[in-house]
Amino acid sequence: MKLIKDIKERSNVGIIFITHDLTIAESISDMTCVFYAGQVMELGKTKELIENPIHPYTISLIKSIPTLSVNYVPKQRLSTIPGFLTEDDFSDGKCRFYSRCFRSNRDCLKNIPLVHYDTDSRYVRCIKI
Ligand code: SF4
Repeated sequence: MKLIKDIKERSNVGIIFITHDLTIAESISDMTCVFYAGQVMELGKTKELIENPIHPYTISLIKSIPTLSVNYVPKQRLSTIPGFLTEDDFSDGKCRFYSRCFRSNRDCLKNIPLVHYDTDSRYVRCIKI
């Protein structure tokens, strides 16, 4: 991480870093893009996105990480995202996170666009925002 940060600062270049670990994203990136099933679910400044996640998938991811979860109590069971990603989740005509989302209802049974949200750098793919 230190080497990547040094290269970024010395060379003044942009770096795309792919990780499953939001704590690493928090430590290294200015902007974070959260993908699920091949689609961007949320995009924004890393600090804003982690402190105020909007998309249900981002919210669920953050709750599952002890160091990022505001409500984390040591030795308490971590939150998990129910279910699995299946081939059916990739089909058109519904949100790709539909089968695992804690906010889903029939309104989510259509293609959901990525939309600009509030601040100039935040984009979210969810109709319940
Ligand atoms: S569109 Fe519906 S299913 Fe998809 S993330 Fe939003 S609430 Fe959940």
